[in-house]
Amino acid sequence: SSSSVPHHDFDPSRRSFSSESDHEKLITATLFPGDGIGPEIAVSVKEIFEAVKAPIQWEEHWVGTKVDPRTGSFLTWESMESVRRNGIGLKGPMTTPIGKGFKSLNLTLRKELGLYANVRPCLSIPGYKTRYDNVDLVTIRENTEGEYSGLEHQVVSGVVESIKIITKNASMRVAKYAFHYARLHGRKRVSVIHKANIMKKTDGLFLECCREIAAEYPDIVYEEVIIDNCCMMLVKNPALFDVLVMPNLYGDIISDLCAGLIGGLGLTPSGNIGDNGLALMEAVHGTAPDIAGKNLANPTALLLSSVMMLHHLKLHNYADQIHSAVLKTISEGKYLTSDLGGKSTTSDYTKALIDNL
Ligand code: NAD
Repeated sequence: SSSSVPHHDFDPSRRSFSSESDHEKLITATLFPGDGIGPEIAVSVKEIFEAVKAPIQWEEHWVGTKVDPRTGSFLTWESMESVRRNGIGLKGPMTTPIGKGFKSLNLTLRKELGLYANVRPCLSIPGYKTRYDNVDLVTIRENTEGEYSGLEHQVVSGVVESIKIITKNASMRVAKYAFHYARLHGRKRVSVIHKANIMKKTDGLFLECCREIAAEYPDIVYEEVIIDNCCMMLVKNPALFDVLVMPNLYGDIISDLCAGLIGGLGLTPSGNIGDNGLALMEAVHGTAPDIAGKNLANPTALLLSSVMMLHHLKLHNYADQIHSAVLKTISEGKYLTSDLGGKSTTSDYTKALIDNL
């Protein structure tokens, strides 16, 4: 339904917790509070989980202050091991310096943990008015390669080169994920977003892989849309789209555009999904340095990411309870954070939401 965050129980057969439903066994999940507004919005999630008595025990890991040689980044080996061991985690945003400096922590996590599909649902919030009240789409972004391969170098002075890698293996698995997801969630259409008219080889291969998988899903409408046209169509009429699958960089950009359609980055969750049901949920937004430490951040995006996490763990009752309270609090409109035009602090909003549980 359009008022629920999609369930993310892809490949439920592979993990023991997935075969049970709404059990009360305590589950350990890794939590990265992250940087910037991350710690503030993570507190909000923890308080709400306590209020609903969700059977989750958090194992908290912080980004280190120096490079851990075992990961080649500021992420500690122990934190990666924690996600591998628990199979499930929630992460706050992490800072990545622009134009220089250390390797992106987000990229390190996605690559090291093999989180190949980034699922970004975008749903209008009933009662919160934007230009559209019927947005209900899911961007599925290839999460491990493309322009994010990190292969950049200077050829000669004044000339730099960045290598976009597209492999059949990664394209097939994300295409498979998108179609499987569409079928599992009763969605009707998968649009592959590309620029194969110009990027003939790379996006061409991505497209070929999507076509091959589409042929196995005759029940799902398949279409191919060039990215520039896709942007125009999304802004004019987002109801034209259902599930969208695309290479890495396009997914990053399109999902922010989609966030803008429903009220902004304070609202959109995501899940990074890997093999064997490994999943690390996170908000689409970044560290929001302009409002960090001021108790102004909207915790909804991280909270809806935690709702995706609960669905993934088949703890649907807790997920639905939190999700309903989010919708109620936002549609009441009394306690909104400033990104949504309100005057409430992160903690006021969290308190109002707990009262609505
Ligand atoms: P950003 O998403 O942090 O912020 C963009 C704008 O949206 C800002 O005005 C910010 O105040 C607002 N915003 C974002 N989240 C909000 C929230 N929850 N509540 C209210 N307002 C919110 O993007 P940016 O400024 O381009 O990036 C800042 C840093 O975050 C950079 O270091 C970037 O690399 C990093 N980043 C990390 C992730 C991640 O960890 N997954 C994602 C994107 C950006």
